[in-house]
Amino acid sequence: MGIDRILSKSADQQRLTAGEGLALLQHADLLTLGELAGSVRKRLHPERVVTFIVDRNINYTNICVNKCRFCAFYREAGSPDAYVLSKEEIFRKIEETIALGGTQILMQGGVHPDLGIEYFEDLFSSIRSRFAIQVHSLSPSEISYVARKAKLSITDTLKRLKAAGLDSIPGGGAEILVDRVREQVSPNKIRWRDWMAVMKEAHQLGMPTTATMMFGSLETQEEIVQHLVRLRDLQDETRGFTAFIPWTYQPGNTELGGRSATAVEYLKVLALSRIMLDNFMNIQASWVTQGAKIAQVALEFGANDFGSTMIEETVVAAAGVSFRMTRQEIVNIIKDAGYTAAQRDTCYKILVVEK
Ligand code: SF4
Repeated sequence: MGIDRILSKSADQQRLTAGEGLALLQHADLLTLGELAGSVRKRLHPERVVTFIVDRNINYTNICVNKCRFCAFYREAGSPDAYVLSKEEIFRKIEETIALGGTQILMQGGVHPDLGIEYFEDLFSSIRSRFAIQVHSLSPSEISYVARKAKLSITDTLKRLKAAGLDSIPGGGAEILVDRVREQVSPNKIRWRDWMAVMKEAHQLGMPTTATMMFGSLETQEEIVQHLVRLRDLQDETRGFTAFIPWTYQPGNTELGGRSATAVEYLKVLALSRIMLDNFMNIQASWVTQGAKIAQVALEFGANDFGSTMIEETVVAAAGVSFRMTRQEIVNIIKDAGYTAAQRDTCYKILVVEK
């Protein structure tokens, strides 16, 4: 099918096949993709509101058995800057987050070999007894490791963590959901079916999750499209993903090295994701990897959400990329792009509309 036929098929709200998505990525020009993605966004979100969440990433440890080749954050146990945060440090960070109007903490770590399910049950229940805040924590690879270590099924592990206070799960560690790529960039990490299995179980237990994609490393364009289709298939089954967050590989200080995706590559993939993921309500702009100005442009390429204020962020910063913005700066950036800014919660309920 020619590009024009694919464009009109999408404009008629018909689902695109993998082959059609690939043809758009390979042959449609940037502005054509942007226009189509922008029209999908307007149909789903006609009100010209861009949302954001006030939250904090708390990386409870940087010790990690996975040693992904694209990661600048992890350390070996015993290295001079390896750490595990104490409960008191975590509580202090949560208190600061709440004082700043935060509604969510995103706790993710390395995959620490000694932290088992009892550690997380104790941590989450201690948080639950002290604070009213959404615990949006542990990516599928951490949950998988905890399950294996405890010799429990994913379902039983999630049930226990949920009972202790885990509310929802971030979609980190998806990278590209194709094993050929995973074997090269994160050979020790769970495979794509394992990532999907954790998300499916979480959705079936009523725990919402997000989905991410880290692109710009070793994947092909076919594999980017395959990633999107795999997410779309699971979303058809469960409707448990609240949002999709594509972001670009940051090569600084990593074993894998190489180059960063360009802004054009970022915007094209962002736009394609808005076009292909017809069952995802929300697409986030990644200002943490792209900076404020490209994130503004992203709002015209399908994104309707600015993600988190990131009171603290250490993982991308470890790769030498340190875009920082206050809540007011995020509000100003959204307004300057011609949208109304609104603070939301984890499930995209609007809490405060900024005048
Ligand atoms: S990306 Fe995550 S799992 Fe991989 S090495 Fe870094 S901290 Fe560990």
